Amino acid sequence: MFCTNCGAQIDDKAVICVKCGVATRNLHAGSAVQANASNNPAGYDWLTTLLLCFFLGTFGVHNFYTKKTGIAIFQLLTLGGCGIWVLVDFIMILTESYRDGNGNPLVRR
Ligand SMILES: [Zn+2]
Repeated sequence: MFCTNCGAQIDDKAVICVKCGVATRNLHAGSAVQANASNNPAGYDWLTTLLLCFFLGTFGVHNFYTKKTGIAIFQLLTLGGCGIWVLVDFIMILTESYRDGNGNPLVRR
């Protein structure tokens, strides 16, 4: 890529232009990711969510816990989609592909 300040060709992964010293868009992209992560630094606990899904999943409790309230209420009304939906959620939590209400992965401690 090229430096937005002086136009010099620099490495695609460079965060600072070697010619003029100005920060590249990579630096901004990195700080944006950090800002997003600090939005929910703790995250929801993986094991807690897994256990809630296992024991109380048919009432959508694991979705209440992770702030997916809309889905949780719907699961409560349908008793976890007759158990199938909860089973899918349980597998997604196990394989760590489950996301909380903010779109963040669960945190394993
Ligand atoms: Zn430059």
